[in-house]
Amino acid sequence: MKYDYLIVGAGLFGATFAYQAMKKGKKVLVIDKRNHIGGNVYTENIEGINVHKYGAHIFHTDYKDVWDYVNSFVEFNRYTNCPIARYKNEIYNMPFNMNTFSKIWNDVIIPDDALRHINEERNEMEGIEPSNLEEQTISLVGRTIYEKLIKGYTEKQWNRDCKDLPAFIIKRLPLRFTYDNNYFNDRYQGIPIGGYTKLVEKMLEGIEVRLNTNYFDNREEFNKLAKKIVYTGMIDEYFDYKFGKLEYRSLRFDTKVLDQDNFQGNAVVNYTGKEVDYTRVIEHKHFENNESGKTVITYEYPDDWTSDKEPYYVINDEKNNELADKYRKLAQKEKNVIFGGRLAEYKYYDMDDVIKSALEISELEIH
Ligand code: FAD
Ligand code: UDP
Repeated sequence: MKYDYLIVGAGLFGATFAYQAMKKGKKVLVIDKRNHIGGNVYTENIEGINVHKYGAHIFHTDYKDVWDYVNSFVEFNRYTNCPIARYKNEIYNMPFNMNTFSKIWNDVIIPDDALRHINEERNEMEGIEPSNLEEQTISLVGRTIYEKLIKGYTEKQWNRDCKDLPAFIIKRLPLRFTYDNNYFNDRYQGIPIGGYTKLVEKMLEGIEVRLNTNYFDNREEFNKLAKKIVYTGMIDEYFDYKFGKLEYRSLRFDTKVLDQDNFQGNAVVNYTGKEVDYTRVIEHKHFENNESGKTVITYEYPDDWTSDKEPYYVINDEKNNELADKYRKLAQKEKNVIFGGRLAEYKYYDMDDVIKSALEISELEIH
């Protein structure tokens, strides 16, 4: 056999595994059906600006080893994610913090003032165990914040009423009583200077990569090429959808180059009302302070997923989790194939988790 590993997918999982294998002297072939490397973290330079083609990506982690690892390939800047939420013509800071509360209630100066308002609003949930996202949010922050900053955004994102959504989605939203707009609590945060594509290019340096190459177009031939396969595509597709199809949420991106220097003054603005269909507008130059007389912005529209669209978000409800479990059981029995990354594990994964997982699996696997 010509290769030790055939890696299906040049995203972060595939690239990390490929680099680790190459370092240990293994022969590796990476294929990807897209016309570029990087998977969903791919950035493309337009007008001197690194554009996040598949949505805003901010690297944040508590794992020092993962932070040191990515920084060994490229330097990261000190970008801190401080998204702005726009509700009609009102502007608020995210995540919910003292800046948000003092704007929502104009008599809020110190944390006790904010707590007084929030506790008063939480009263409507007294004695009720939250059973859905609406109830969970009101019991966390009260109805005013729910209606201005959560309801519209969430219903657009998931195309479901908040009463029909599980509470856990909202538990990810941080709530703090300090004047701190940093979205993430992690110790390390930043954006690779020069874009994520540069990071993945460095990881794949010296490794054979074939783009525009779909594993399923030539499955038998590919299987003959390598001793083992690392598969990072959709798990149900690998098994020919034999138990049925898993579901996803998709997104549609509408990118515009504008002949102006600064469009919205922040990299990420969330649109939390129902009066527009998009959930976010990204202004890419602010991630790296790219110098350019122009600016590139992207409107992000949530979209129902069909098989001709990109599967961006897994749907971790009961029905899909059960189905994914059936496929995971099959995957465990599959000899000589490693399933890794968000699609092959059907798991909501941040970038650092994907890298961590690829490092751990490759450590066990490659001798
Ligand atoms: P992917 O990047 O999806 O890579 C899989 C690759 O496999 C793809 O390139 C695909 O083309 C290829 N492939 C699939 N099937 C085949 C086939 N049959 N043949 C050949 N190739 C195939 N994480 C963060 O940490 N911070 C963020 O701010 C953040 N923001 C995000 C915003 C959005 C809108 C989304 C969707 C995700 C975000 N993430 C973020 C998550 C991040 O994108 C993922 O953690 C990461 O990209 C997953 O890497 P992966 O290698 O598992 O998958
Ligand atoms: N959310 C919201 N308003 C916002 C931002 C987020 O209601 O302005 C909710 C929404 O339900 C979303 C969840 O919080 O699905 C998680 O959002 P986040 O941006 O943290 O995660 P991502 O969409 O990047 O996975």
